[in-house]
Amino acid sequence: MAHLSKLVLVGTTMISVLAFAPLASAKTLDVVASFTVLADIVHEIGGANVHVRSLVGPNGDPHEFEPSPDDAKALKDADVVFVSGEGLEGWMDRLISASGYTGKPVVASEGIKTREMEEDGKEVTDPHVWNSPVNVQVWVNNIEKALAAADPEDAEHFRANAASYRKKLVELDAYAHAKLDAVPDDKRKVLTSHDAFGYFGREYKVKFLSPVGLSTETEASAADVAKLIDQIKAEGVKVYFFENSNDPKLVNQIAAATGAKPGGELYVEALSDKNGPASTYLNMFRYNVNQVSTAFRK
Ligand SMILES: [Zn+2]
Repeated sequence: MAHLSKLVLVGTTMISVLAFAPLASAKTLDVVASFTVLADIVHEIGGANVHVRSLVGPNGDPHEFEPSPDDAKALKDADVVFVSGEGLEGWMDRLISASGYTGKPVVASEGIKTREMEEDGKEVTDPHVWNSPVNVQVWVNNIEKALAAADPEDAEHFRANAASYRKKLVELDAYAHAKLDAVPDDKRKVLTSHDAFGYFGREYKVKFLSPVGLSTETEASAADVAKLIDQIKAEGVKVYFFENSNDPKLVNQIAAATGAKPGGELYVEALSDKNGPASTYLNMFRYNVNQVSTAFRK
């Protein structure tokens, strides 16, 4: 009997401990993000309080996307939906109306000082904001705010995660400057598949040339390619890069015509899978900085 009463007592104590424990993890939010880079950062800020699904998968092209019925269902059931915005996810509106999702996606890039440029005679905004960690600070602020609004009981948790991630972004920016600032001006030129590195170029003073414009949905004309080949020769661009999420055919062809040497692969708008070199945003950006700075030393 003595044993039994002891057991009962232990059981009661445990129950009361649980009852009075602070509700640190009030709930788990079901969150959908449009592509892997954004999903990774939502996961960093949300931690254990979010379950994040990325619509476009690893190594996928965020400009073009064929959603599955499962994607539509995840969207419909989501507590919060994040897009980067600025014209990146041209497929999102169609998916929203097809899915029956009635909320409004959070535009993570709102408040970023964007690059406006002319493409095919039209003024367009460069959507590739994440290729500067300075811009990603704005993403973090917007993500923290949206998660806290959806789950106020965990706001303190989101705030702490955001603060620690912001520090890592500051370190990442300093790392890029340390690697790139000393490179002589005439060496800071690179050929890539499409125009996705404008913010990287703006922040670290690197000139990126590419046959395809801001979106992979557009195709370069023969005249565009010929003009680019002339420009690469005139500017003495020495290195070209593939993109993990894009067909390298055109960039190969231009490299062959100009004598530019392969610099390897850049992760411009999609993470790699878990075992790849760009499994997180921090890894991806650091990897790209290393690739570019190594190429400049050749
Ligand atoms: Zn792109």
